[in-house]
Amino acid sequence: MAQPSYRVVRSKRKTVCLRVREDGTLEVLAPLHTSQAAVGRLVKQHAAWIDEKRRKALKRRAARRKIILSPGGRMRYLGEWYPVTEGRPGASLSFDGHRFALPLLPQDGAQTLMEGWMKEQAKVLLTKKADGWAAKMGVSYRRLRVGSAVCRWGSCSGKGNLNFSFRVLMLPPHLIDYIVVHELCHLRQMNHQAAFWRLVEEQLPDYAKRRRELAEQSQAIDFIHWETEEEGGDPDEQNGKHQGEASESLPHSQ
Ligand SMILES: [Zn+2]
Repeated sequence: MAQPSYRVVRSKRKTVCLRVREDGTLEVLAPLHTSQAAVGRLVKQHAAWIDEKRRKALKRRAARRKIILSPGGRMRYLGEWYPVTEGRPGASLSFDGHRFALPLLPQDGAQTLMEGWMKEQAKVLLTKKADGWAAKMGVSYRRLRVGSAVCRWGSCSGKGNLNFSFRVLMLPPHLIDYIVVHELCHLRQMNHQAAFWRLVEEQLPDYAKRRRELAEQSQAIDFIHWETEEEGGDPDEQNGKHQGEASESLPHSQ
């Protein structure tokens, strides 16, 4: 087993204490005079325990961040979490800026309804953003489409068509802007070489920070799976399954 990475916090305490925080990181609370080597030995000795605690912490966090499309559940929209409540019988999905109301439906019904709503919203918002940025950058695209891709946020084809996943709507607006600008820059540079990143930087000087944040969010939020019930399987397993793809910032087809 690899030596876990950790942070040592020293204080006037008498004993050494290992603490796995809720984000899965390890903290070693140590007395002022305990040597670094002694701390290292202790961590190594307890590697299995740490690993187990870390796995549980990450699992709990993943479960908390899961989208649940049934009354009492929650939905992520534009980077915020909103409660899901029961809508009036016969009514369609509604969102009043504070909560989503969904009619009671069988499992996949709720998901289909939400996907349809998200696609409509995504089309409107992404078109507005793409038009705004394209005008500013002096580029033009041919067509903008919103699909259901799970392993990429957006792509740009050689013909100048933009494709986005409706799932971008789960991200905060400044990351949606990054995704849009990224794809528009591919109209000029169909690669990820230095010239491409210079174009992105011209529009978004803090693009590197946004790019990192997007990679983090792709891993941290369960943007791939959504559940209609609490018991949606093992979040560990689900995260593992797509982690490689989800952690890519913006792979694209072209
Ligand atoms: Zn790209």
